[in-house]
Amino acid sequence: MEITTVGVVGAGVMGVGIAQSLAQSEFRVLLIDLNQEILERARRHIKENLRLQTLLKKDAGAPRSNLIMERIVFSPDQRTLEAADFLIENVVEKWEVKRRVYQEIDAICPGRTIFAANTSAIPITRIASATGRPAQVLGMHFMNPVPMKRLVEVIRGYHTAAETIDAARGLLSRMGKDAVVVNDSPGFVSNRVLMLTINEAIFLAHERVASPAEVDRIFKECFGHKMGPLETADLIGLDTILLSLEALVEAFSDSKYRPCPLLKQMVDAGLHGRKSGAGFYQYQVVE
Ligand code: NAD
Repeated sequence: MEITTVGVVGAGVMGVGIAQSLAQSEFRVLLIDLNQEILERARRHIKENLRLQTLLKKDAGAPRSNLIMERIVFSPDQRTLEAADFLIENVVEKWEVKRRVYQEIDAICPGRTIFAANTSAIPITRIASATGRPAQVLGMHFMNPVPMKRLVEVIRGYHTAAETIDAARGLLSRMGKDAVVVNDSPGFVSNRVLMLTINEAIFLAHERVASPAEVDRIFKECFGHKMGPLETADLIGLDTILLSLEALVEAFSDSKYRPCPLLKQMVDAGLHGRKSGAGFYQYQVVE
């Protein structure tokens, strides 16, 4: 199957990075979110990211950036997705929201369209059950920031067909990315480990065993990690971390994933990490 047009549902942290990477790889992109305001912010983010990339590479990239931007359709109307050969879903990590989105897109998209869920922790088999095409549903867990991360965790749901995995591999290869294919399990490989690590690091800060900077420094300087767990939490988004932990508690019926009260308090206080300007650290945000 030839893939030329890719639908990207959800224009938050992940949707923006995926839309940009796809457009840079010469796909036509249909980027969908709830309203024009969110989509305009997404447009500004992508433009700014392209500007920074050009500065870093020190080449005259403006005409190329315009060409990349022209490949992206920003639309609040889900029916735009009728034209999608392949769709990557990145809406908020809440099963009720995702379920509704999958029912809607299943009714809109042609039977051939493949659906890839970029979820952090919700089982792919459950997501597929909201559609009439479970063989064409898989997980594609992109890493943040998407344009800079080469490896994607690809998840095979219970009914996912081999052709669906092949199509995802083909798409990723055109994006200059590679895949590790794993079987379905809540949180897959990456987030079963990462969410526990981040949550435990938040408990350490909560209990004042160490400051956030000290926790992160130990991971960076003792273990050679590029970022500490609390810097990583800010990058992902503390709201997304909380929703992912809640999804893991629910899916495994196991209290070992229970979110730290400090995490809940920070999310209630609007400290969502980089995207909100503050989390464990302070940031500048693109408005
Ligand atoms: P985000 O909160 O930045 O963005 C979510 C977007 O979904 C928002 O713009 C919101 O308006 C939109 N949305 C909500 N309901 C919608 C609907 N019905 N139709 C269209 N859009 C809708 O979240 P994010 O960090 O981009 O995460 C998105 C998904 O990707 C989540 O499932 C998350 O678990 C997963 N994920 C996140 C990361 C990360 O590092 N942040 C990494 C991998 C996967």
